[in-house]
Amino acid sequence: MAEPIYRRVLVKVSGEALAGTDGAGIHQATLERIAADLVATQKLGVSIGIVVGGGNMVRGAQMSGKGIPRLTGDLMGILATVMNSLALESAIEAAGGAARTMSAVTMPEVCETYERRRALRHLDKSRMVLLAGGTGNPFFTTDTTAVLRAAEIGAGAVLKATDVDGVYNADPKKDPKAVRYDKLTHKEAIERDLKVMDATAFALARENRMPIIVFSIRESRAIETILRGKGRATVVSS
Ligand code: UDP
Repeated sequence: MAEPIYRRVLVKVSGEALAGTDGAGIHQATLERIAADLVATQKLGVSIGIVVGGGNMVRGAQMSGKGIPRLTGDLMGILATVMNSLALESAIEAAGGAARTMSAVTMPEVCETYERRRALRHLDKSRMVLLAGGTGNPFFTTDTTAVLRAAEIGAGAVLKATDVDGVYNADPKKDPKAVRYDKLTHKEAIERDLKVMDATAFALARENRMPIIVFSIRESRAIETILRGKGRATVVSS
């Protein structure tokens, strides 16, 4: 059996991925499939940090259309990431894994507060850590959070789970001629303004030489397949 290509990774799951075919909220079968995939991946001997987005519930920048200021909208988005993380934590535990949610925003009645050393202890004890609450600051995204936390916990790569099998030169859902990249450098991703991650996330990844593997989470065992070095994906690296 192929050895996992990384021993520690940061898996980024967007809120949209959790919404599955429902388009919003949390789709139970999708949540359970992702949790089972994470537990199977951990059994390969991989230690796993997870950052979950909040876009299935709230995107701060879009709230202004509803009369809610951006800053308040971002705080609502931050809360959405905590809700999603708690849902995934429960699903991981139901699938037989151990997981702890840690939030960048203090809410002791809800979950632990993020502290790097505590997160590392959980990982050493074979618990997955869900790093919730984004960076704890408005005007950032959970993609930036994923790269930041990946660097903090010493992950070998960010595995960015999306609903397409990599990075394309145009939106493959709108343009049938869109071409998929197998490999890209961080510099190319920034210069070509590829929308798969925001520029802050790519810049941080570039500075920390953090590879980002973009793949589709739609198939079962997608994360495990990538860690076994198989499957379709785009690797963004230095
Ligand atoms: N957010 C924030 N600061 C952070 C991370 C997230 O303010 O450090 C807010 C922001 O409003 C964002 C929302 O939380 O739109 C949800 O996160 P994101 O859009 O990254 O979720 P995803 O697209 O991955 O589901």
